[in-house]
Amino acid sequence: MGKSTLRQGVLSRLASLEYSVSHTTREPRPGEKQGVDYHFVTPEVFRAMVADEAFVEWARVHQHYYGTSRAELDKRLQSCQDVILEIDVQGARQIKAHYPTACFIFVLPPDAGSLKARLQRRRTEDAASLETRLTQAAVEIAEAPWYDYLLVNDTLEEATDMLAAIIVAERCRTKKVASRVLALYRTLGPQKNAADDPSSPP
Ligand code: 5GP
Repeated sequence: MGKSTLRQGVLSRLASLEYSVSHTTREPRPGEKQGVDYHFVTPEVFRAMVADEAFVEWARVHQHYYGTSRAELDKRLQSCQDVILEIDVQGARQIKAHYPTACFIFVLPPDAGSLKARLQRRRTEDAASLETRLTQAAVEIAEAPWYDYLLVNDTLEEATDMLAAIIVAERCRTKKVASRVLALYRTLGPQKNAADDPSSPP
C-alpha cells in the first residue's frame, strides 16, 4: 500500500480534486497506463521539455527523470478546486518556491520493515534498485520537518481518512473562504439593515 493507492482513494472520495499526471523517463510497470499513471516519455523528449521550460518542477529520482508539466498543472488548476501532485522532495521544494500557498503533506511508511516489504512485493525492483530506494527514503525523511503535515501510512483506510480530512480542513481556511464571507457580509452588512436597527438614529 503506497502513496498512489492513497491518492486514488482520496480522489474517488472528494469532489473537485484532480491528480496532475507527471512525465517520466522510466519504463511503465505492469498495469500502468500511458497518460493515466504517467506520461511516459523518452529521455530525449524529457530533455527537450526541460530546454523549453515546459516543467514547473522536475528532478532525477532513482536514475530516472520525473517532472510536472506546466500545461498539465495549469489545465487541472482551471478545472477543479485542488490538484494533487505526488512528487519527491526535490520537486516539492521547487513547487514551494513557485506556489507558496500550496499545502505539503509528507507520507511516512509505518516502519522500515513495511517499506522494504512493500518494495519487494512490487517485484519490479532488483536488489541494487531496492537498496537505492531505501537509501533515498532516508534522505527524503530528513526533509519531512518543513512539510505542513506528516501522515503515517499505517492502514490504507485510516491514512485515506486523514488525507481527506487535511484537504477538507485546508479548504475551510479563512483565506480560502474569505471572498464568500465578504459577499455574505456585503449582503447582510449593517448599512443594509440600518433601517431595521432599533439602536440606529432616526
Ligand atoms: P515511481 O517510479 O515509484 O512511480 O516514483 C518514484 C518517485 O518519483 C516517487 O517518490 C514519486 O513521488 C516521484 N515522482 C513522481 N512524479 C514526480 C514528478 O513529477 N516530479 C518529481 N519531482 N518527483 C516525482
